[in-house]
Formats: sequence, structure tokens, C-alpha cells
Amino acid sequence: MKNSNLKRKAIFLDRDGVINHDPGDYTRSLAEFNVLPTVYEALKALQESGYLLILITNQGGIAKGQYTHQAVDQIHGAFRQECRSRDIEITDVFYSPHHPDYGESLSRKPGSLMIERACAKHQIDPSLSWMVGDKPRDIEAGNSAGVAGILIPVNGDLLQLVPALAKAPSGENQQMPRSNGTI
Ligand SMILES: [Mg+2]
Repeated sequence: MKNSNLKRKAIFLDRDGVINHDPGDYTRSLAEFNVLPTVYEALKALQESGYLLILITNQGGIAKGQYTHQAVDQIHGAFRQECRSRDIEITDVFYSPHHPDYGESLSRKPGSLMIERACAKHQIDPSLSWMVGDKPRDIEAGNSAGVAGILIPVNGDLLQLVPALAKAPSGENQQMPRSNGTI
């Protein structure tokens, strides 16, 4: 596919601390997955602004044996279903099960492979898109894939980003704050 066809835009979202409350440890099960208060409203608004919504999440707890692929799939399935019931479509979810203590990985953030794969799979133009995360490695992963990043506080309010992102002019996001979280 030619680059000229890459016209879709996306919000790439870190999961823990952005979508669900991060207690400072792993989220091991659906029972521990608590969606932050304004997330659904924010996702709906971002979707209505024309963004695809894609989760990009490190789940190194799998490599550590803290939880399983099945537990992660159950969390993501339930979240996507809950979104669907609110007319919000999560286009895709990418997670990296690796942890540096147990082996090297290109997919684990700050590696950019998950974002690059998402862009290729869904014909997304990185320059029209954003990576929202609560750790510098989220922003680094986005920037390595040509996606501008927005750093928010851990368990912050995603809704606060919506007005600026909703009116971000296509192809001009490089003029927006990239990583200082003040948007
Ligand atoms: Mg996080």
C-alpha cells in the first residue's frame, strides 16, 4: 500500500494508568481492572472526532508469571464489549508480554514495534495520530514511530485532553505539545 493511502488517524492509548486505575502494581485479572471515571466519555468524544482508538500496552507480568495471556485477553475482551455497549469501538489492542528480565523484545515500549504494526494494519498516518501515556517510555515509543506523544499523570483525567485533540488540525500535530503533559 502506498503511503498516500495512509490517511486514517488514531489515538494510541497506554492501558494501565490511562484507561484503568494503576495501583502501582500489575493488573492481573478482570476483577482488578477498574476503568477510570472519565474514560468512556473521553473515548466517545475522541471517536466522534474521527480517531481510531487503539490500546498499546506492556504486559511484562506475563513474562514474570504474574498472570497469563488468557487473563489479559479476558480483560481486553470485557473492556471492548463494555465500550461497544456504549457505541465506542476499540479498533485493536496490542500488548507485549515480554519483560527485560526474561529476554529482549522489540515490541515492549519504549520499542515502537506495536505502534508500527498498528499503523500498517489499519492504514494509519502517524503524523495525524497521538500516543497518550503516563510514562516517558510511552512517549518515546510513539515518537520512534513518528507519532506525537502526550504524557498525562498516572490515573489522570483523559477527558481533559479531548478539547485540544478534537480540534487538532490534520497533519499539524507536530505544532502541538509533544510530551509535556500540559495540553
Ligand atoms: Mg501506564
